[in-house]
Amino acid sequence: MPASKAAAPKAPFTNEEIYGRIQKAVLEHRLAPGTKLIEERLAEVSGVSRTKIREVLNKLAHEGLVELVPNRGAFIASPSVQQARDVFVTRRMIEPEMARLLSRTATSAQVRALRKHVRQESDARKQNDRPAIIRLSGEFHVLIAEMIGNEILLRMMRELAPLTCLVITLYDKPNAPACPHHEHSDLIDAIEAHDEAKAAASMLDHLQHIEATLNFDEVKDASPDIEAIFS
Ligand SMILES: [Zn+2]
Repeated sequence: MPASKAAAPKAPFTNEEIYGRIQKAVLEHRLAPGTKLIEERLAEVSGVSRTKIREVLNKLAHEGLVELVPNRGAFIASPSVQQARDVFVTRRMIEPEMARLLSRTATSAQVRALRKHVRQESDARKQNDRPAIIRLSGEFHVLIAEMIGNEILLRMMRELAPLTCLVITLYDKPNAPACPHHEHSDLIDAIEAHDEAKAAASMLDHLQHIEATLNFDEVKDASPDIEAIFS
């Protein structure tokens, strides 16, 4: 890989920007599980101190996206098969109930916002933009938590969505990208109709379909590209 010291950024990034960039790179599968996050290089490409980088890495570690290994450094977390299964068990417990709650209270503005999100997913699909498809699929589920307005649920979904992306990166079968498109639309139909039972069932089916596309037999290799996320 060519040295890129000459290409220092114009203005230093804020902690939030660095956090956001790394999180987005994980969501878009541009930072693979197991990738080492070298403090010095991150500090260099983002133009901030190593202390700030460490703060960001600690926050990401707290959310389970980064693993801090004593004497070895920080790595993009690489969920085990057991952790991957745990993520889906948890999502199956939480999200059907979320769908039920939202179907009870959803306003027409919220339904419009959900449909707008699905249109963005569909545009990404047309452009075959796989990183965007995977990120938007995860964000759809976070959006539902936002609409319910329960801070604790929202925090949990904000942790579970990126973890799910990591799991998909590690364990998905080829040609099985993220959430099947029509299933988000079916779910919105149930929410719009205030059909609580159908919304809950539709969410459960959807999560089971995603889980069924995973293959826990083989694990892919990581290929790091730290510069790319700050370029
Ligand atoms: Zn989905």
